[in-house]
Amino acid sequence: MKSRSGKTVHPLITESVRRLTAPSAAARSTDLTKIYGAGETEVAALDGVSVEFRQAEFTAIMGPSGSGKSTLMHCMAGLDSVTSGSARIGDVELTGLRDKQLTQLRRDKIGFVFQAFNLLPTLNALENITLPMDIASRRVDKEWLHTVVETVGLSERLTHRPHQLSGGQQQRVAVARALASKPEIVFADEPTGNLDSRSGAEVLGFLRDSVRLLGRSVVMVTHDPVAASYAGRVVFLADGRIVDDMAGPTADRVLERMKGFDARRRTT
Ligand code: ADP
Repeated sequence: MKSRSGKTVHPLITESVRRLTAPSAAARSTDLTKIYGAGETEVAALDGVSVEFRQAEFTAIMGPSGSGKSTLMHCMAGLDSVTSGSARIGDVELTGLRDKQLTQLRRDKIGFVFQAFNLLPTLNALENITLPMDIASRRVDKEWLHTVVETVGLSERLTHRPHQLSGGQQQRVAVARALASKPEIVFADEPTGNLDSRSGAEVLGFLRDSVRLLGRSVVMVTHDPVAASYAGRVVFLADGRIVDDMAGPTADRVLERMKGFDARRRTT
């Protein structure tokens, strides 16, 4: 990329400037509720959740099974409709968007990483990374792509097909695919669930680097206190409500907090 004076500017410098001048919230929910079913089978999966995920921040969402973590992620990423309240990605209000607009917003502004790597076996790593942009006929920013590929340590593996890669490497391809379009925010749902602890640590390190070095925003749903400790902040959910917000988490502090939920459950 060139500056106005014509000098070439490194993408990381461009990103740092963007971080300093960008509006602060990458995603935000206000009084979000989600009710599944009706009548006797009604379940309030989210019960008035207001939360903000800031730019260039790595946030983990934790909570007991059934506390609403996946529902919150799906509602905030426009994968599921909300019952009431508001969900925004950057400046865009999701509620009220038509399906086509939602599809476009997800494609342009959101990156996804799931537990299953979801790579196409017949394409090599590079083709998998650029596939969403190719389908959308979007120009690939080669400089950015190069930076992403370097950041997740895939430079030597780009011509490999998924079956020639380890699980950790496949998930790194999925992380690079999520980052390739420079999304406003990346949502990761149990991204290390299918990985051994060493590969998991690597992938978490790369997710953290994508925040620290590339200025992206990452929100990760996890049940693993060690995974959560890679984040800069942990938001705790219980019974569809936010019950705690921890900055600078360590695995021990997160574990202690989670034990509190278990103890509460046993006494109720
Ligand atoms: P978590 O991700 O924390 O395990 P979920 O968001 O999956 O929690 O679920 C929250 C609550 O909503 C649970 O009680 C779950 O049973 C319920 N729920 C989730 N998805 C559906 C659905 N599609 N239909 C009915 N109930 C659902």
